[in-house]
Amino acid sequence: MRVVECNICGETLTGATDEELLKRLRSHMESEHSSTGFDEAQGREMIQAEAYDASDS
Ligand SMILES: [Zn+2]
Repeated sequence: MRVVECNICGETLTGATDEELLKRLRSHMESEHSSTGFDEAQGREMIQAEAYDASDS
């Protein structure tokens, strides 16, 4: 499982893959931060730089 923290509110977002994480990040930004101009390339960069693996427990 992949995990990344929102850089605005610090909420932990999770996804099975980086692709899933990108979708979660986009919907989080849109619903929680009223971000209508989510930049997918920027989201990918953020995930590449900051996401980490977490094991299911
Ligand atoms: Zn947030």
